[in-house]
Amino acid sequence: MTVKDRYEIVLDNIKKACERSGRNPEDITLISVTKTHGAELINEAIDAGAKDIGENKAQELCNKYDDVKPVRWHFIGHLQTNKVKTIIDKVVMIHSVDSDKLASEIDKRAKSSGVVMDILVEINIGMEDSKSGATEEEARDLIKKIRDEYQNLRVRGLMCVPPITDNPENSRRYFRKLKDIFESIKELSEDEYFDTLSMGMSGDYEVAIEEGATVVRVGTAIFGAREYR
Ligand SMILES: *Cc1c(COP(=O)(O)O)cnc(C)c1O
Repeated sequence: MTVKDRYEIVLDNIKKACERSGRNPEDITLISVTKTHGAELINEAIDAGAKDIGENKAQELCNKYDDVKPVRWHFIGHLQTNKVKTIIDKVVMIHSVDSDKLASEIDKRAKSSGVVMDILVEINIGMEDSKSGATEEEARDLIKKIRDEYQNLRVRGLMCVPPITDNPENSRRYFRKLKDIFESIKELSEDEYFDTLSMGMSGDYEVAIEEGATVVRVGTAIFGAREYR
């Protein structure tokens, strides 16, 4: 199967998950996660219709950037503060903000570039030691601080990566929990921009859509297994 074939299968699965849950497929953004893959394969996905792509390493993103056709780049991985300046002019959204230190640096760099950066706050929804992401309480405090103090950031919502599992049903309760937190933050403020819930990967994006995801991040199901060198 080609990237185009697999991309279309994913789109079709998204459509079916929307039908099951009474949602509109137009309300779901599919991010094709391109880490480890070269520009040629990424351009195949873009030719198949991909408009949003996701990378999790700043260096890798910068290396590919010039060889990939015009597209919306998302930063989805753990971001070191000293790398922020390398991606600030390349990405439309940073999904993985989990500390004030990182938020402050993104705000500073966005200001010098004259942009307002859309960000998501990442929550460590399974409370795993091995994962980055804020606790629910830290996330609430961080969102408040960003809204009060960081004029070049716009908090668009929340993101999570639940514990690894081979049964997508195991992810459901984590997606539900993130959605609950999202709704409770939304209720407390009148922020029209707080509208994005980034959750669901190749193994569980359909469950994530059933539970309210507005963004899914899909790599393997589109590009095949990754080879790490
Ligand atoms: C790699 C990655 C994905 C995509 O994972 P697949 O299982 O290949 O779909 C999604 N989100 C993040 C943060 C990732 O690092």
